[in-house]
Amino acid sequence: MSLHRCLFLAFSVFFFVPAPLWSQATRQQADLIVTGGTVVTMDGPRTIYDDGAVVVNADTIVAVGPRRELETKYAATQTIDARGKLVLPGFINGHTHVPMTLFRGLHDDVTLNDWLYKYIFPAEKKNVDEQFVRWGTRLAAAEQIRGGVTTFADMYYFEDAVAEETKAAGMRGVLGETFIDFPAPDNKSEVEMLAYTEKFLRKWQGDPLIHAAVAPNSIYTKSLLLPAGPSVPRPTATPAARISATGATPLRRIQFIRVPRRRFRMPRRWRGIITRPF
Ligand SMILES: [Zn+2]
Repeated sequence: MSLHRCLFLAFSVFFFVPAPLWSQATRQQADLIVTGGTVVTMDGPRTIYDDGAVVVNADTIVAVGPRRELETKYAATQTIDARGKLVLPGFINGHTHVPMTLFRGLHDDVTLNDWLYKYIFPAEKKNVDEQFVRWGTRLAAAEQIRGGVTTFADMYYFEDAVAEETKAAGMRGVLGETFIDFPAPDNKSEVEMLAYTEKFLRKWQGDPLIHAAVAPNSIYTKSLLLPAGPSVPRPTATPAARISATGATPLRRIQFIRVPRRRFRMPRRWRGIITRPF
């Protein structure tokens, strides 16, 4: 083949390859593009792209921007057409006890104090075990995902089971094992609570979805915690009396009382295993 003919063929290939194939070859490969929706970012200027796109690779959002721009830069194995829809970051549920979805509707329209001490604590004592917690978490995960929630902050018992089910659902959680002043469904003493929590904290260290936490139940159900345990002075009034004496709701009470500093003290050795949430 002559040199001229070679050059002609080379130029032909260069100029006559169909445009989509050419751009396909130059576009970066991604796993997923969500395209065509109104993309609400939570960046500094709170940018909203009316005809936007989100590009995802593995577990990372690699680009967010105008659809036209991103479609020329990226090719993806999966495309979701989001025209007519909002594309926005997942919601965060800041206060949950997810297994309690199984207690929904148990008793409404009473004061928090009555609700807790007359209904919930007795019901928990009778019903809550690890399986209860797993099924309640699964139901709560399904409901939350359906509502656009991707992350939640939880406190309950058997929190390690909550963590396993949360991870299995692909959700993210700041999950706290409860410390409370009476025998709980999982741990019957402060010593057990400490041992369980330390194991729980160590198990989930560095997990990309689960942030294990320590969760003293509340200022009216958890008094001072010391690792030494037995010599800890206890308030003389019962938790219920502590609320009723003031006649105030817990939130109102938090506003006015001075919560002693370092009321809840964690063992020094936990310092290295407690990390900041995501
Ligand atoms: Zn709560």
